[in-house]
Amino acid sequence: MGVWATRHNGPRSSSPEQLRVRLDGLLTEARQNEHKMRRFQALELMLFGLNSLHELLRALLYPDRSQFNWDIVTIVLVDAEYELRRVLEGNDDILLHPNLSFVDNDEGLQLLFPPLALTPIIGGYKATAYRMLFNNTQEKPASVMLLPLMRQGKLIGSLNIGSLDSQRFARGYRTDFMKHLAAVVSICIENAVNMERIKLLGLTDTLTGANNRRYFDQRLEEELEISRRSHQPLACIMLDADHFKRINDQYGHQTGDTVLKQITQLARAELRGSDVLARYGGEEFVALLTHTDTVVAKEIAERIRRSVAQQTFTSTDGQVFRLTLSVGIATTNSLSGGVINSADLVAYADRALYDAKEHGRNRVVAI
Ligand code: GH3
Ligand code: MG
Ligand code: MG
Repeated sequence: MGVWATRHNGPRSSSPEQLRVRLDGLLTEARQNEHKMRRFQALELMLFGLNSLHELLRALLYPDRSQFNWDIVTIVLVDAEYELRRVLEGNDDILLHPNLSFVDNDEGLQLLFPPLALTPIIGGYKATAYRMLFNNTQEKPASVMLLPLMRQGKLIGSLNIGSLDSQRFARGYRTDFMKHLAAVVSICIENAVNMERIKLLGLTDTLTGANNRRYFDQRLEEELEISRRSHQPLACIMLDADHFKRINDQYGHQTGDTVLKQITQLARAELRGSDVLARYGGEEFVALLTHTDTVVAKEIAERIRRSVAQQTFTSTDGQVFRLTLSVGIATTNSLSGGVINSADLVAYADRALYDAKEHGRNRVVAI
């Protein structure tokens, strides 16, 4: 009572009734803020719980309408190396989503968001300035809240929320919840990308960038199962560089490494994106071709063999030389009744490769 009494006696005193109204207003606002905080906390906890970039973007692009009356949500991500798009490959619902876009650098976003400020932009929609953020949306918002996404001092994108109501996002709108959300989204994006990087590293051969043997073994089991169920042939192609030891001996190990990378590229160029190419051992590669019978597998193997044989390689000290491959093929349809396990398929391909070596190298042999 003391506080009210003092104020009551002051020069700009309010009646008890006015104070009650004001107090009610403050209580209502406090309750609304608490409710808002809970909604944001729930959203953030949900985002932290997701374990892929795909799920994260989905959750943001399709917000729970019962909790957030955001009419339009768009996301722009900086993706200079195409890394994010590669991570999202196969998730066309997100990759082709009109409200998700990728930019090759952060220049456009830098112009929008003041340097190093994590402050969201709030206010009316500016057609020219904000075009890059709402480029493909059917409707343009009347007011917006633009959240810069930053990690380690760098702009990594922006989360853009639009309303068809011009007064929805206006001066005086509380931005602290949104700033927090932007920080959480930024961390989640970075985290999801890092997880994908780790996964990829564990499945990729570091020298050549081809898949590693672990990945091949996993995929072989999966593809064999699919091949069994669908009655579609699966081809296994083993490729081994001929007299590779001589390359190392003559031109050095470093040249040998470069040649292995080039072989990978030449082989990859003849395969479909869905085919697996893995480094099986030192100078030995293995390819797995789905829906491929022996006739087609031979054609493709022959193309790889020819492409390597026709290539000229250059050593670190400038000497030009050539190299050949021997290739062995086994396909599920060429083997007893089509019923075969993974170890057998690889063993038969290896046997065919051995035959290719025995018969003079630089050739393709199919079992
Ligand atoms: P063949 O025609 O019978 O296959 O003869 P080869 O010399 O290719 O076969 P061998 O298995 O005797 O030798 C393979 C060589 O490949 C020996 C090894 O030093 C080399 N090698 C294996 N891994 C690497 C690598 O990562 N880098 C380099 N530079 N050489 C490698
Ligand atoms: Mg060899
Ligand atoms: Mg070998």
